[in-house]
Amino acid sequence: MKLLVVEDEALLRHHLQTRLTESGHVVEAVADAEEALYQAGEFNHDLAIVDLGLPGMSGLELIGRLRALDKTFPILILTARGNWQDKVEGLAAGADDYLVKPFQFEELEARLNALLRRSSGFTQATIVAGPLRLDLNRKQAVLDEQPLALTAYEYRILEYLMRHHQQVVAKERLMEQLYPNDEERDPNVIEVLVGRLRRKLEGDCGFKPIDTVRGLGYLFTERCR
Ligand code: CA
Repeated sequence: MKLLVVEDEALLRHHLQTRLTESGHVVEAVADAEEALYQAGEFNHDLAIVDLGLPGMSGLELIGRLRALDKTFPILILTARGNWQDKVEGLAAGADDYLVKPFQFEELEARLNALLRRSSGFTQATIVAGPLRLDLNRKQAVLDEQPLALTAYEYRILEYLMRHHQQVVAKERLMEQLYPNDEERDPNVIEVLVGRLRRKLEGDCGFKPIDTVRGLGYLFTERCR
């Protein structure tokens, strides 16, 4: 998933970026609210992690601005103070959950995964579509009860398409799931990855859940639950 991290403490920002990238996310980590607004205005994100105590524009104001711009992605706030007013104000401004510093990375990841799951309408950590099962926590795909050997990029594309099942997903959206915003992108890579993914899904069982919508993108046709 594509995450926006807003944290002014350089060490923590770096730590979050490293750990979340290791967990398979693409992370844009910025130090202040102005840069976060720019990123959110220019690019798409699936979730934001916002520190409340920022220099200049506060995290609270940033959340209000993001919501005013119709950004509907889940927002998880980080607060060092831990007093209840902060949390209440953060939630009232439009945040979805909070974590008090210092925190364990595992807790952050669990909350983040729950928010991402809910925002795509799933209550379980497993998404099922016909013979295909996707374990969101272990990041594994199982087809006809057999583990499917996917590369990290193939898995990310499959997860994104399944989370947005029965919706047309533009190639640019899929590219955002693979590369940071400032990196060179080659749209042909997506075609190659989707081609490989299709062959693996088809396997012996002839499962063909990914359609191409000419000029628009890709569509995961099977209903996911
Ligand atoms: Ca801070």
